[in-house]
Amino acid sequence: MSLRLSHLIGGDARSASDGGWLEVFEPATGAVYAQCPAGTAGDVDAAVAAARGAFPAWSALPAAERAAWMNRLADALETRLEDFAAAESRDAGKPLALARSLDIPRAASNLRFFAAAATQFASESHAGPGVVNYTLRQPLGVVACISPWNLPLYLFTWKIAPALAAGNCVVGKPSEVTPVTAWMLGELAREIGFPAGVLNIVQGRGADVGQALVDHPDVKAVSFTGSTAVGTRIAESCARSLRKVSLELGGKNPTLVFADAPREKLLDTVQRSAFLNSGQICLCGSRLLVERSIYDTFRDELVARARAMVVGDPVDAATQVGPVVSKAHFDKVMACIALAREEGGRVLCGGEAPAQEGRCADGWFIAPTVIEGLGPACRTNTEEIFGPVVTLQAFDTEDEALALANAAPYGLSASLWTSDLRRAHRLAAAVEAGVVWVNTWMNRDLRTPFGGVKQSGIGREGGWEAMRFFTEAKNVTIDLG
Ligand code: NAD
Repeated sequence: MSLRLSHLIGGDARSASDGGWLEVFEPATGAVYAQCPAGTAGDVDAAVAAARGAFPAWSALPAAERAAWMNRLADALETRLEDFAAAESRDAGKPLALARSLDIPRAASNLRFFAAAATQFASESHAGPGVVNYTLRQPLGVVACISPWNLPLYLFTWKIAPALAAGNCVVGKPSEVTPVTAWMLGELAREIGFPAGVLNIVQGRGADVGQALVDHPDVKAVSFTGSTAVGTRIAESCARSLRKVSLELGGKNPTLVFADAPREKLLDTVQRSAFLNSGQICLCGSRLLVERSIYDTFRDELVARARAMVVGDPVDAATQVGPVVSKAHFDKVMACIALAREEGGRVLCGGEAPAQEGRCADGWFIAPTVIEGLGPACRTNTEEIFGPVVTLQAFDTEDEALALANAAPYGLSASLWTSDLRRAHRLAAAVEAGVVWVNTWMNRDLRTPFGGVKQSGIGREGGWEAMRFFTEAKNVTIDLG
């Protein structure tokens, strides 16, 4: 009997109102192992109503008490870290070691970070001649948090934590591709007696549950992370109702490697940024731009490393690259590699699905793939692939490097590798991205603004940016005369 998940609505575990179920697959084996409620618009109505009902009491709680509830949830999550890591690894196909060291600890720190933020959040006051202004930052009410499959609990908590901290009640919608850890979080919330209706989790397809949530008249704001195509539709829906929306979308991030790059961590970090989580992180550096004088050496070393990476069962400690998340995504990434070949790219390593033995024989594995010989305008270098696939391009000058970096329609992050401080500052200012790393990658401080430009989204998450998004500013002016 496979695992049966449920919604969390008003503190209760519920099935879909019409009794529908979706199959949940294990990427490593290709087999169905769980059933997830195929949520309906009626389930969304019930969840929004529960959230509305809980809002007056939750928003009136002192911030320290909201923070205490969030810390209790983080405590419970940390106590069950191993179970959550195993579940995340099984559901998303990511190496167990990665889920244990990155995804689940980060989910707990998201809750703790914003619990602390709740107690520290303050608003402005502006004194003028004969008047004083102060600004109230009030919670919005019911907010929708919609998250993708690549970092399931990590990104789900990254949204719900600031929303709750600011005093809102949440209807969360995890990806139907990876619904398990959000369901487990809901179960934990029930176990610790988290106030009913404050956090609701509705499972199901984006087109059904997600769209119903975005269109619900009682939802005051939508925080969305996912693809640019869906984000654009959500922006259209929110524009019609003039609702607040934050969109964290796709990426095609450049990694710029200059000949004077510090060498110690360079290849380790570039390799990680290319292939961590099978390249399924919005921040992965998928376009490697390398100064021509070191291009051949860099390419050969990277290809040797990519070839040596262990692709295999996510539960094996030696595995570096697990399967991609679904059959549909496997087909998409393989089609992108075929397209790269058609466009004239040379596949230097990978490019195929390495055969697996035993329980993983039918899993969706793709070998780390490095491609060269393509210019900046082709589809391979402009469209998001979101798999273990990177391209290499050579440049001669800083201007050329910048032009290549900015040639893609996305602008989420960029990673610059140089020892020249002035060049680092110059390029950091000029590159079209919301997040820039110099001689590092995915080095995150949760206080910093996070988000993209161009097709990578609108708005910023992280720190006070998130607390401001989830509150409405109301200015009060008092005449002192
Ligand atoms: P997706 O857009 O298909 O789905 C994301 C979420 O939206 C899922 O929960 C899905 O069910 C829901 N959804 C789908 N259609 C909807 C609709 N019409 N209305 C409301 N909700 C709907 O994305 P995905 O395939 O799950 O995730 C991969 C994408 O996410 C990639 O493009 C990746 O770059 C992006 N991503 C971006 C960031 C970032 O911070 N910028 C982080 C992680 C992933």
